[in-house]
Amino acid sequence: MSNETPIQVTRAMLPTLQDYIETIRPIWDSHKITNHGVLFFQFKKALSEYLGVADLALCANGHLALESVLQALQLRGEVITTPFTFISTTNAIIRCGLTPVFCDIKNDNYTLDPAKLERCITPNTAAILPVHVFGNLCDTEAIERIAAKYQLPVVYDAAHAFGVRPASSQDENVLMRGTASVVSFHATKVFNSVEGGAVISKDAELLHRVFLNTNYGLENSEISSWIGGNAKMSELHAAMGLCNLSLVGQEISCRKRLSELYYECLSSSDKLVLPTVPKNVFSNYAYYPVVFRDGTQVRDSVLKRLAQKHYHARRYFYPLTCDHPMIQKMAVKSELPVARAISAGVLCLPLYGDLADKDVLAICEIILSVISE
Ligand SMILES: *Cc1c(COP(=O)(O)O)cnc(C)c1O
Repeated sequence: MSNETPIQVTRAMLPTLQDYIETIRPIWDSHKITNHGVLFFQFKKALSEYLGVADLALCANGHLALESVLQALQLRGEVITTPFTFISTTNAIIRCGLTPVFCDIKNDNYTLDPAKLERCITPNTAAILPVHVFGNLCDTEAIERIAAKYQLPVVYDAAHAFGVRPASSQDENVLMRGTASVVSFHATKVFNSVEGGAVISKDAELLHRVFLNTNYGLENSEISSWIGGNAKMSELHAAMGLCNLSLVGQEISCRKRLSELYYECLSSSDKLVLPTVPKNVFSNYAYYPVVFRDGTQVRDSVLKRLAQKHYHARRYFYPLTCDHPMIQKMAVKSELPVARAISAGVLCLPLYGDLADKDVLAICEIILSVISE
C-alpha cells in the first residue's frame, strides 16, 4: 500500500475558518491586536479552567516561558535536567547563564530517574528541571522529596503534558506540582495557539515576575520593576487558542483510539517496546514513541522504509541534547546508559486526530515487515 500525500509525524489542529473569523472579528473594531487585550484575558481564563489551575502566566511560546521562569527564580549555578528531550529544555538553561547537569532517565517512561538524581547534586546545584517527556509523568513525589532535602526549586518542562490528568478527581493536578510547570501551545503539540506557552505555579509572586518578564518589566505604562524582555501573546494567537480549546477534548479522544489501533497491530512483536498508559492517569496521547529493542540499525531502516512510502516518522529524541557540539562543551559530564539506549532505538510514529486508520495500518505493516527481515 502506498500513499501519495506525505504524512508527517503530526499535523496542527485547526478550528474551522468560520469559527476563527468570528473570534477575531471584534478586533477590526477595536484595533487592539496585542498588549493584553480582551482575547488574551479570555484565553487565560478559559485555559486556567480547562487545566484546573488557579492561575497561569501566558507567554509567546513555551521556550520563552521556560526562560522566563528560570530568570524569575534568579538562579545561579547548575540545573539538573535530562538529555532525552527537545533541545529547547537544555538551551533555556544555558541561555539563562546556567550550567546543565544531565541525569539519566528511567527505562519505563523515559523521565528523570530519581534513583540517580541525588548523585548529580553538588554545592552549585540551583534547581531541578525534569521533563514530562511524551506526556509521561515524572515521579514527582520522589523528585520533590530529594528537592526538599536540599531546598531546591523544581520546574517541570510540561511542554508535552497539556491535558494529562489524574484518572481520579481525588488526585492532585500534576501541573500544580513543584515550584512551576511550563506548557507549550506550539503548532506541533496536542493543543496549539499557533505559537504559545504558559507558566503555571501556586506562587503568585513568581507568576507576576514571569508576567513582568514577558512585558519589559512594566508594572504599568510608566514604571518598570524588572529587566524584562518581550514574550507577550498577541490577540490573534489567543483567538486561535480559544478556538482550539473547544476542540482539544475531541482531538485527544481520536488520538487515544489511534494509539489503541497501533497497539493492537504492533503488540504481537517482542522486538518493540510500545507506550502504555498507567491506570491512574488520563493520557493526552501526545506522541506514539516505539523503541526498537534491536537498536539503531533496525530503527533507521524502518524510518527509511516508511519515508519511501511518504510516512515521516521522527527520531524523538535523537541525538540526546547533551551530544550537540555546543552543549557538549558546557555541560557537566555524566553516565547516561538508559538515555543512550532509548535514544538509539526510539521512533515516534505519525499521530494526530484526523490521521486515517488505513495509514496507521499501513505504517504497522511496514514496521512489522522490516523487523521480521
Ligand atoms: C516544544 C517544546 C518546548 C518549547 O516549546 P515552544 O512552544 O515550541 O517554544 C520545550 N520543551 C519541550 C520538551 C518541547 O517539546
